[in-house]
Amino acid sequence: MDDIAFFDARSYDKPWFDKLSGPAGFSIRYYESRLTPETAILAHNARAACAFVNDTLNRDVLKIFSSLGLTAVALRCAGFNNVDLKAAEEFGVHIFRVPAYSPSTVAEHALALLLTLTRRTHKAFTRTRERNFSLEGLTGMDLAGKTVGIVGTGRVGLKFANMCRGLDMRVIAYDVDPVWGAGIEYVRFDELCRRSDVLSLHCPLTPETYHLINRGTFHMLRDGVVIINTSRGALLDSDALLDAIKSGKVGAAGLDVYEEEADVFYEDVSSKVMRDDTLNLLLSQPNVLVTSHQAFLTDGALRTIAETTIRNLRDFLDGNGAENELRAEVAVK
Ligand code: NAD
Repeated sequence: MDDIAFFDARSYDKPWFDKLSGPAGFSIRYYESRLTPETAILAHNARAACAFVNDTLNRDVLKIFSSLGLTAVALRCAGFNNVDLKAAEEFGVHIFRVPAYSPSTVAEHALALLLTLTRRTHKAFTRTRERNFSLEGLTGMDLAGKTVGIVGTGRVGLKFANMCRGLDMRVIAYDVDPVWGAGIEYVRFDELCRRSDVLSLHCPLTPETYHLINRGTFHMLRDGVVIINTSRGALLDSDALLDAIKSGKVGAAGLDVYEEEADVFYEDVSSKVMRDDTLNLLLSQPNVLVTSHQAFLTDGALRTIAETTIRNLRDFLDGNGAENELRAEVAVK
């Protein structure tokens, strides 16, 4: 049996990984700790490590892995902005990911955020439980006939576009690599900002997309725009978003990701003092809905994530190719 050091392990990870690991010749050591330079040593004697979105795979961690003789890390996610791919190459650590587990899964969550915010069902839920059946403040916004601007029409963005079309919305998009023939009207980024009633982010976080939505961008956006982010938190400047919400420029924001999420997401911090004032203020707004990076979390997606992660490692360790290996040059895409 080959050992896998599994970082940031959660109860919902285990059923599928337990089921698939044994037959594939793996024994999994689950660690609830995040992967950091301090915890990387837990991977001693393991053949591979398995990491998630808020684990750190920087130069220090990869150097430690290399010194432990560990040559493979399987990300059980699609995004890889938390990995220093150049350092991985330098230290001979191969990085794998799950590029597509179910694009609909994330797109459906984006749609859930959008529909909740525009029909205020999150407010109605708490009200009616307290026997408050008043409709004051619950006036919604029709989506049919509105324009949704999609940034990034890859796997998730395209699914989301189709879902929005099903709602009779007009779909426009911006992508550095457009998908011609998908029936999507591509426009420049500034035009997308000016025309969108709803703006949904589906591009990866790269040096080029860091704070793509910033103070300057908010000036271009329509008054009352609804912003949905299920991609990566740092695509949005959170302080600028907060100001745009306070000024009424942004009508509502649905955030499954947050740029400083690593400190709190996936943890129960309800009995602790939260020091992140920006997050505190965002959470206190009636038109902001935050979910803690859960867009991937469905039974079907968890199964596919486990299957692909186990297959990535088995194929690599058996010398059978590396279909989902990440290389340094893709990081700039
Ligand atoms: P994808 O690679 O299929 O598509 C990304 C698209 O973004 C591509 O079409 C690409 O050309 C485009 N793009 C790249 N750089 C761009 C730029 N500078 N400006 C505009 N477009 C750009 O990825 P995907 O599978 O559709 O996933 C999208 C993102 O969703 C991922 O990067 C990941 O960060 C995020 N994600 C989040 C969750 C979650 O649970 N919240 C789950 C999975 C994926």
